[in-house]
Amino acid sequence: MRDVSKMYPGGVAALRNVDLTIHSGEMVAVVGRSGSGKSTMLHIMGTLDRPSTGSVYLDGHDVAALPDRRLSALRARRIGFVFQNFHLADGVPCLDNVADGLLYAGVPIRERRRRAETALDRVGLGHRLRHRPHELSGGERQRVAIARAVVGAPALLLTDEPTGNLDTGSGAAVLDILYELHTAGTTVVVITHDREIADRLPRQVRLRDGRVV
Ligand code: ADP
Ligand code: MG
Repeated sequence: MRDVSKMYPGGVAALRNVDLTIHSGEMVAVVGRSGSGKSTMLHIMGTLDRPSTGSVYLDGHDVAALPDRRLSALRARRIGFVFQNFHLADGVPCLDNVADGLLYAGVPIRERRRRAETALDRVGLGHRLRHRPHELSGGERQRVAIARAVVGAPALLLTDEPTGNLDTGSGAAVLDILYELHTAGTTVVVITHDREIADRLPRQVRLRDGRVV
């Protein structure tokens, strides 16, 4: 991100002149109080939203210069998202919640399910393939969300308070999974307001009132 600012209607400057480089393979915590701009930063990094001013580069591409279709394709192939509130489809078995993460990659359904099973195994939920989200604990739901985010083997995994709704034990388990993905080569960004979680990560970026401090 180069000199990125984001203004919301009503005159809120959610990000101010942010310069930040995250290298391939890094694992970074983004910390700051509620309202400091963390989610805004994640959305802009993930190309889900555009900055008001400044530039975002992904894999060396200036995001603003890409046509929408190329940008969507780049996002689908390169980036996985884990949102705070899971964003899982109710009433849909875990296996298909995860398999749907490959919908836009043009993978046939049987192969999608096969890869989904592998991803769920990887987060320790190989025995919960047919369970629906409401039949799982919060920690298990968050692990399903991680499986869905990584089923397409993204280079970059962006997570917004992935342990925010979890008890300490489940939160630690989720962080372990993120650490394993990082060790395997994935670039991982973890937004958190939990200092203990942040202290376990190799690098911390601190936001205050939209500025990197
Ligand atoms: P954090 O994730 O650190 O809690 P956010 O990035 O969600 O912070 O929000 C940063 C600031 O921008 C907050 O003051 C918030 O109220 C404001 N904000 C976030 N989204 C919008 C929006 N869509 N419209 C107007 N203001 C917003
Ligand atoms: Mg937030």
